Amino acid sequence: MDAVLRRWKAVARSAKLEMEVIAEEGGYPVAVLANEGAPADRPALYVSAGIHGDEPAAVSGLLEWAERRVAFLKAARVVIVPCLNPWGLVHNSRVDHAGRDLNRMFEGAGGGAVRPLLRYLDGREFSMAVSLHEDFDAAGVYVYELARRGDYHGEELLAAVEKEIPRHPGSVEGRRAENGVLRRTRGIEHIAEQIDGTPESIHLFLHHARTAMTFETPSEFSLYRRVRAHEAFLEGVRKMMSR
Ligand SMILES: [Zn+2]
Repeated sequence: MDAVLRRWKAVARSAKLEMEVIAEEGGYPVAVLANEGAPADRPALYVSAGIHGDEPAAVSGLLEWAERRVAFLKAARVVIVPCLNPWGLVHNSRVDHAGRDLNRMFEGAGGGAVRPLLRYLDGREFSMAVSLHEDFDAAGVYVYELARRGDYHGEELLAAVEKEIPRHPGSVEGRRAENGVLRRTRGIEHIAEQIDGTPESIHLFLHHARTAMTFETPSEFSLYRRVRAHEAFLEGVRKMMSR
């Protein structure tokens, strides 16, 4: 974890991002990076990884992408959460040190590291929010897309990724997927009731972001390719936001 933080500190220095430790959980610091000085008229991006500690490719992919895209980070309006569950990353655990699934805690005052993150997000708005994940049951990459009507990007983003890992065929947990894209525009408030807690992407979509993407790579594929896939997804996002 020290090594990951050291590399993020280097990214922060070269991209002129402010790095803030918002929590200490299970003995590990939880950091957030932001470009507070970027012009307010730019589209803003939120990216997070490692909310589930047993999804390491998301954490590595985000870090490697950021290291390669310092120029973009310098100019863009960004908030980056490199790893919300560092204890879980070290212990290969989905839940945090207190047994909490942080991706079900984005309601009320939150809990664990989500609590200070919610305070940090207060009053912030993004054109796109990206949550990076991995799925042990998936046979390929897929994306959950929460978007305002007519503002769909999932298909285009997956097209940029599928040279690394093919799309997941068929449905995901009984929900219909169109070529790896799961879209939900209505009834979003009710999802939290169905899955027993509000995930990050739903909170962001309802309160902070025009579009919220949850990108998933299949854990059974090689770590190398999964990291590349997360990088490729973020590259797609970067290109989309740069045009
Ligand atoms: Zn996950």
